[in-house]
Amino acid sequence: MRAQRPNVTVVEHPLVQHKLTLMRKRETTTVKFRQLAREVATLLAYEVTRDLPMTTTPIDTPVAEMTAPTLAGKKLCLISILRAGEGLLQGMLDLVPSARVGHVGLYRDPESLTAVEYYFKVPDDLQERLVIVVDPMLATGNSAVAAVARIKEEGAQQIKFVCLLAAPEGIDRFRTSHPDVPVFTAAIDQRLNDHGYIVPGLGDAGDRLYGTK
Ligand code: URA
Repeated sequence: MRAQRPNVTVVEHPLVQHKLTLMRKRETTTVKFRQLAREVATLLAYEVTRDLPMTTTPIDTPVAEMTAPTLAGKKLCLISILRAGEGLLQGMLDLVPSARVGHVGLYRDPESLTAVEYYFKVPDDLQERLVIVVDPMLATGNSAVAAVARIKEEGAQQIKFVCLLAAPEGIDRFRTSHPDVPVFTAAIDQRLNDHGYIVPGLGDAGDRLYGTK
């Protein structure tokens, strides 16, 4: 795990890197891509929850009494940016099954590349929760910036952002708008192309998850 820029963590775990390489490959099938997205998401969930507050509680094992570490009860909310965020959601829920889940629907205007909201549904106690926003690709950053701004409007005070891949442009844009929100990613790629795709990237994450192209 490495922080390359302030508040940006690149998760360099070998399993994450290997699985990400498989996802990038053109020949990787939809079934495999979806499975890998879920597995990488579980590993990213492990990193993004690394500093959850802990407490201790007295318990009985079959052998003896002890004071054992437990989570301090911090409530979590995962928020998926539709539709590609869904590809990471289940893998994160595998690790934190009791998390609440919200959804933000944004589409990217193909001309301006700006984010337009069409759906928003989140739990109403966001201010009490650690909110983890998930979207596989931090490309221009427009969707992530708009989604996080909207989530802050709903009262969220502690937010983290998780993606598979980021472009330097997207990270810079996100960091400028939301310097308080840590970013976790498996890799930072070279650049964006003229269509707003990450290079070398993995293509359109939504299409690859759902086989729509
Ligand atoms: N969204 C994607 O799915 N892929 C990219 O490369 C950029 C944005």
